[in-house]
Amino acid sequence: MKIVFASGNEGKVREIREMLEGMGIELVSLKAYTGVPEIVEDGNTFLENALKKAKIISEFTGETVLADDSGLQVDALGGEPGIYSARYAGEKATDDDNIDLLLKKLKNIPQEKRTAFFCCALVLYRTDGAYDYFESKWHGRIIDKRRGKNGFGYDPVFFVPELKKTAAELPPEIKNKVSHRGQAFAQLKETLKKKLKN
Ligand code: IMP
Repeated sequence: MKIVFASGNEGKVREIREMLEGMGIELVSLKAYTGVPEIVEDGNTFLENALKKAKIISEFTGETVLADDSGLQVDALGGEPGIYSARYAGEKATDDDNIDLLLKKLKNIPQEKRTAFFCCALVLYRTDGAYDYFESKWHGRIIDKRRGKNGFGYDPVFFVPELKKTAAELPPEIKNKVSHRGQAFAQLKETLKKKLKN
């Protein structure tokens, strides 16, 4: 079964290939295509953005497409940065810029009110327009100082109480099991297994 992943990010494609290994799926990066239409991620939710990407790329390639969208939601900030997670501190913001802005906004918020979660939405879109979607959340709390060197994005300040570590202190194989993305992919895998059996 061939699936096009709606991203040219080779790092992500590699990671996802590993997660789907042994299932007989050929995962193709968008890098394999030229003239890919530009997609404006203007949905109100992660799911809307993932669905928009999946639909446009499926119509463009004529293939089954997998698309994802993810981000961080902080309760005390009314769900910010949410769908703006990657560009919270501006279009060209680095992970550090985004964390600095987040910590600034949370400065006067006590630790117990700094609850947050990462969310990952995945959409598997077929050429007939039918699709499956999966969403998963990873709960934690935003701490004041960065801890750990692994991962990316907001990982150094995302503290997971059950593991007593930030996401950036977790080895990748553990993060990939427990994270929002890992959990959403586990759901996708179950669905794919059932479909491939039929
Ligand atoms: P995207 O889904 O790859 O576009 O990710 C959106 C943004 O959400 C990233 O740039 C990060 O800022 C944030 N994000 C998503 N997943 C994670 C994660 O696992 N750790 C840290 N930050 C994340």
